[in-house]
Amino acid sequence: MATDVRPRDPSMRSPLVPLATLIGRELRSGKSEKPEIKYGNAAFAKRGEDYFLVRPDCIRVPGDASSSFSVFAVFDGHNGVSAAVFAKEHLLEHVMSAIPQGVGREEWLEALPRALVAGFVKTDIDFQRRGETSGTTATLVVVDRWTVTVASVGDSRCILDAKDGVVSLLTVDHRLEENVEERERVTASGGEVGRLNLFGGKEVGPLRCWPGGLCLSRSIGDTDVGEFIVPIPHVKQVKLSSAGGRLIIASDGIWDALSSELAAEACRGLPAELSAKLVVKEALRTCGLKDDTTCLVVDIIPSDHTLIPPSPRKQQNKFRTVLFRKKSQNSSSKPSKLSSVGVVEELFEEGSAMLEERLGRKFPSKEKSGPLRCAICQMDQAPDDDLLVYSSNIFSAASKPREVPYLCVGCRRKKDAMEGKLPREPAMSR
Ligand SMILES: [Zn+2]
Repeated sequence: MATDVRPRDPSMRSPLVPLATLIGRELRSGKSEKPEIKYGNAAFAKRGEDYFLVRPDCIRVPGDASSSFSVFAVFDGHNGVSAAVFAKEHLLEHVMSAIPQGVGREEWLEALPRALVAGFVKTDIDFQRRGETSGTTATLVVVDRWTVTVASVGDSRCILDAKDGVVSLLTVDHRLEENVEERERVTASGGEVGRLNLFGGKEVGPLRCWPGGLCLSRSIGDTDVGEFIVPIPHVKQVKLSSAGGRLIIASDGIWDALSSELAAEACRGLPAELSAKLVVKEALRTCGLKDDTTCLVVDIIPSDHTLIPPSPRKQQNKFRTVLFRKKSQNSSSKPSKLSSVGVVEELFEEGSAMLEERLGRKFPSKEKSGPLRCAICQMDQAPDDDLLVYSSNIFSAASKPREVPYLCVGCRRKKDAMEGKLPREPAMSR
């Protein structure tokens, strides 16, 4: 864990690296060729509540094979499987429906972090309407060429093993025990945080939130726990160097047994399929089968024809570099040329649980006029449907028509509930 990039203080957040600059540089350096994506998965079930999703060949522009991207996800359910199954079936579709139509690749990558927030929240709202009580973590990873975008609620981590052997964490654990900010947020929104009280007053186990007793502070589902357990994901977007890298996405059955480094080391240099099995095996060997254990390994590999001329690095200090290490030894069979580009660039990171901070002021949209479209559920509303809705606060569309995202009545209600501004609804809670 020593070299993990830990979540940073949000006030230290770096400005977004202009994608146009990066893509322009990518084209100039001949790096536009698509990498190969290889993947493998392995799982060991104890309760059977883990699910995963593998969609290697998604297409952004219908009929245009060059617009393909890949999606991988892990869902670790609790109190039943229905939330995990529902998220597996609907989350990706809801994310995609929040991407503005007809945008180019640059705009699509830029719109993804907001679309992920909208898609997670919509999936949660839709699941809650079913009146079921289970919940799930969700870690969804979108790989578009060298750009990796990860959105996550709960504690199913995604790590990156960059080609220079530096391992970094692309997710944040939403565990009450480990996350002070989340404890404060849950408490401020009306939840109680404490340990399980055994007979005789002895406190045991990790911090949980009550009612419900959940250890996580964010999830999809968990209707019976409280709206302060929010589905708003931490999102991180990075751009790998043309040397590529490996992602390991897994449920806590792996991470309770292995550090990020140990998981990466357990399989480094081996094919993805075998690697996933080895990571699961190593976790079981270390801790035994205590929990559902699911692991996806995704390799982003430069294609054989990719030419990597030495790129000018003069301007490198302009970009935020999360990982940089000069390759001192040849630890792989890759040509040593690759060592000159062993850098991962951080494009975006945001983990706030406040929707207004996440949906942003400049939601890219080609449609500047027409009906109001809810930024979460994507339903169109006739402008005079609900004038009352935008009379009061930050989402007010009446005063500043297009500067803030519009939310429909239902989604506004969800936002207020998540922020502890609505009284709890007894009918929803048991
Ligand atoms: Zn809505």
